[in-house]
Amino acid sequence: MQDDDLRASDNVDDRRGSGGGVSGGAVGGLGIGAIVVLSLIGWATGIDPRTLINGAEVITGSQNQASSAPATPGREGAPTDKVGAFVARVLGETEDVWSQVLPQQMGKQYEKPVLVLYSGATRSGCGAAQSAMGPFYCPLDHKLYLDTSFFGDMQTKLGGGGEFPEAYVIAHEVGHHVQNLIGLLPKVEQAEQKADQRGANALSVKTELMADCLAGVWAYHMNQRHQNIDANDIKQAVATASAIGDDRLQQQAGRGSVVPDSFTHGSAAQRVQWLSTGLQTGQVKSCDTFAN
Ligand SMILES: [Zn+2]
Repeated sequence: MQDDDLRASDNVDDRRGSGGGVSGGAVGGLGIGAIVVLSLIGWATGIDPRTLINGAEVITGSQNQASSAPATPGREGAPTDKVGAFVARVLGETEDVWSQVLPQQMGKQYEKPVLVLYSGATRSGCGAAQSAMGPFYCPLDHKLYLDTSFFGDMQTKLGGGGEFPEAYVIAHEVGHHVQNLIGLLPKVEQAEQKADQRGANALSVKTELMADCLAGVWAYHMNQRHQNIDANDIKQAVATASAIGDDRLQQQAGRGSVVPDSFTHGSAAQRVQWLSTGLQTGQVKSCDTFAN
């Protein structure tokens, strides 16, 4: 994937190297290292790391504490280091594409979200953020949270990686922001509250698969504008879509504590299918995972 042509966004809140937003880097007695290890075990075994973490009863206390404190803003504007600049360019391209596509296809104005880059831990409007949670979108503060060490994990632990898969991960989180802007996330949340666990999980899976498809829609339009991805990029992204389990969509109920959106995720085949649908059509309406 060629990213030279992409406009770097200034909507980056760079909190890396600011010591993290959670005191001492320890979370409720378990260090960040332990959380990361639990997370990697989760990936390796297919067990949701949050189950392991919650099983260890780590999260709740520190999160309540963390959410009552204000977030520490970092450096604003596009970072200049390699990975930071790449993230800013991908974010800029999501802004440029969705600012056109959302009004055209959905009759909605696009509001640009802030992307928070952090290392280790920070605070979000949905509670404490830790790198082990993976990239996520907080619908309460309309911000994306990304610890770029996740890109390293993609390469070493998930058998994936590469620029386009990394861009796809960001675009998936932006997809959740689009879902929020079109009013889908609040509806899903209401429906989940009425549903039983199984029904709620099914709704979460549909939400995730739609975000994959929206990432594909974005990539379609980026490629129309820049002709900057090729078959190998798509192959890598498909491999990543298969490898990444669920991600960390934060929800209204998560104010003050990070509440997992589900303990299931779409199958690898489903994720690949919906990413491909978006990539082929470039149409938001083709991403209706809630139909039938
Ligand atoms: Zn997601």
